[in-house]
Amino acid sequence: MQEYWTAALRQLQTIVSADHYETWFAKIDFHHRDDDRIYLEVDDDFCKAWIEDNYLDLIEDALDKVTEEAMEIVLDVRGSFDEGDELQIEVDLTPQAARQANLDHQAVFDFAQSQTAAPNIDDLATEAGMNPRYTFEHFVVGSSNQFTYAACSAVAHEPASTYNPLFIFGGVGLGKTHLLQAIGIEMLRRDPNARVMYLSSEEFMNQLITSLRNKDMNTFRNQFRNDCDLLLVDDIQFIGGKDSTQEEFFHTFNALYQSGKQIVVTSDKSPQDLPGIEERLASRFSWGLIADIQPPGIETRMAILEKKAEADGIEMSKEVAMLLAGTIRSNVRELEGTLIRLGAQASLMGTPLNVDFTRQMLKRMNLDHRRQVNVDQIMRTVASHFDITVSDMKGPRRTRAISEPRQIAMYLARKHTNHSYPELGRRFGGKDHTTVLAACKKLEDLVEMGDNDFARSIADLESMLIR
Ligand code: ADP
Ligand code: MG
Repeated sequence: MQEYWTAALRQLQTIVSADHYETWFAKIDFHHRDDDRIYLEVDDDFCKAWIEDNYLDLIEDALDKVTEEAMEIVLDVRGSFDEGDELQIEVDLTPQAARQANLDHQAVFDFAQSQTAAPNIDDLATEAGMNPRYTFEHFVVGSSNQFTYAACSAVAHEPASTYNPLFIFGGVGLGKTHLLQAIGIEMLRRDPNARVMYLSSEEFMNQLITSLRNKDMNTFRNQFRNDCDLLLVDDIQFIGGKDSTQEEFFHTFNALYQSGKQIVVTSDKSPQDLPGIEERLASRFSWGLIADIQPPGIETRMAILEKKAEADGIEMSKEVAMLLAGTIRSNVRELEGTLIRLGAQASLMGTPLNVDFTRQMLKRMNLDHRRQVNVDQIMRTVASHFDITVSDMKGPRRTRAISEPRQIAMYLARKHTNHSYPELGRRFGGKDHTTVLAACKKLEDLVEMGDNDFARSIADLESMLIR
């Protein structure tokens, strides 16, 4: 049953924002269940009341989905359920006892599996050429990748029924490989006997060439077309222009698709934009779902840093995270790499990883030159985008048509320059620093929520300002 709860949590993670998830959901513990109720524990009365008022339906929906039955949720403060004898259920859950306790067979089965020679999923992942760390849990979800994350999660939980094929595309170092392998690892967790095949399109080509040379095409074909439940192909763009590889991949695709096996492919471009890919293959990639990953916003970059620092035991203050996330915008790989280097250097030199140290090191690594935009440029660009004048923006009028662009400009100025709130207030025609602060806070929230006009305008404006 614990598994069900974990699965429900994972569902919830795809629905709510990362912050909400961490604050309210991650800390809920499964305690036990009986016939139609699930008992969950939280830290305190406040959490209990808040979750009951706001999230109970959401949690129930998520649980119903994974258990496929309607369960009632009983929420209480940690320790409250321990007095009764229900606790016994969890303690002596031998298959027989569980059956008597009228638990469902899946739980019994899961338990039996975990008690006997449970295959180590990390080992299975490694054997399949994947990185055991690339799991859904280790992936930080933000508005830039939420959609793709949800699609991957859906595919992992219901392979070949929702989106087949799933085509993921996006720039370098944005988490495509991570999510691709997360699907594979999740599949292995659910069924350690699943035949998960992970490889890059280059490896596919190399294996093909070897098989052709050894005149052993049968083995090659069997391996991909018959002995495979889930095919994960990374960086498909490499087969552009390689005609015989494409031909073979096309037939592999068809065979797997027809026998109801899931196919997931990543690429640096969308199928239409892939050079040298045959039309029939590009069109097959569009049969299922095409999901793109965008570069993460500052909040997500910070969350990624914090998660990574915690995982690697690096002590880092919020200010340092902010400095790093504000400086390194290109991709997550570089962000993580810099954190690890800084952590190592700090520990070698026996200094704490504080703002001063970080600034020094960034300077030394030549990473401290932000692409400079200034407040005037920002005001001009935003004003012309919304068809108002810069004097409107600096002026006192507070109609919507003016105050919204003004708030957006304040947010962008704060994000992309080093000016303080009071300084920005002065530059926006002598406004109070609290006005700037409120504008930034409001826009930060809207950007984190993703799908709204503000977030879209901001993304457009940023791409104009910072190329
Ligand atoms: P890509 O395949 O798109 O080039 P990767 O999947 O190799 O990128 O990601 C690069 C690194 O960044 C990996 O270590 C990965 O774990 C990490 N990473 C990328 N996106 C995220 C994210 N949203 N949360 C956590 N780690 C991430
Ligand atoms: Mg990759």
